[in-house]
Amino acid sequence: MEAFRARVARLRPDLADRVDTIGSLDELHLLDVKLNRLSRWHQPGLLLIGDAAHAMSPAGGVGINLAVQDAVAAARIIASPLLSGTLDDGHLAAVQKRRWLPTVIVQTFQRLLHRAIFARVMAGKQPKPPRILVLMARHVRAFPKLPARMIAFGPRPERAPDFARRKP
Ligand SMILES: Cc1cc2nc3c(=O)[nH]c(=O)nc-3n(C[C@H](O)[C@H](O)[C@H](O)COP(=O)(O)OP(=O)(O)OC[C@H]3O[C@@H](n4cnc5c(N)ncnc54)[C@H](O)[C@@H]3O)c2cc1C
Repeated sequence: MEAFRARVARLRPDLADRVDTIGSLDELHLLDVKLNRLSRWHQPGLLLIGDAAHAMSPAGGVGINLAVQDAVAAARIIASPLLSGTLDDGHLAAVQKRRWLPTVIVQTFQRLLHRAIFARVMAGKQPKPPRILVLMARHVRAFPKLPARMIAFGPRPERAPDFARRKP
């Protein structure tokens, strides 16, 4: 335990004053990070969105935005049939259909980051950004703005329905 506490304090000096609160190894849990998605996000009466439908890794810090975009799309597609009592499985399927491609694109981007950066760092090697990205960043003027747009709005931006917008 002492060696573990010393290691945490070395890696995170800002937490060094509280490593004593870790009493035993039983209090430690390994977080199992998954990157996957269900092939079907809905059943009659049930719709899964966000991580429930597609678990995201921390790579790129995009999972929260993707979950919020799913929620906005779901609100736009199902709110009115839900209120009028006409909701059926087709509406739920429409949410998955709309959000499937952006999910695949963002998860593929996360997989690339895992391979190019995380796997190399974990193996004690220098991370190497993919050559194609380096070339594009150097030569395509609009390219540096693309990651910011992808993180903020995703590959398929969603617009909140009018009923959910604050009136000016
Ligand atoms: C280590 C790690 C770091 C990450 N860092 C980032 C990051 O920096 N930026 C980013 O954008 N994404 C990050 N992600 C991904 C991001 O956390 C998820 O994609 C995002 O939180 C998904 O949002 P969600 O609302 O779908 O699910 P969650 O955030 O998991 O929300 C689900 C909620 O439901 C609650 N809940 C579960 N069961 C029940 C129940 N039976 N009754 C009531 N409530 C229940 C849970 O307590 C939880 O609050 C990270 C992921 C990991 C694993």
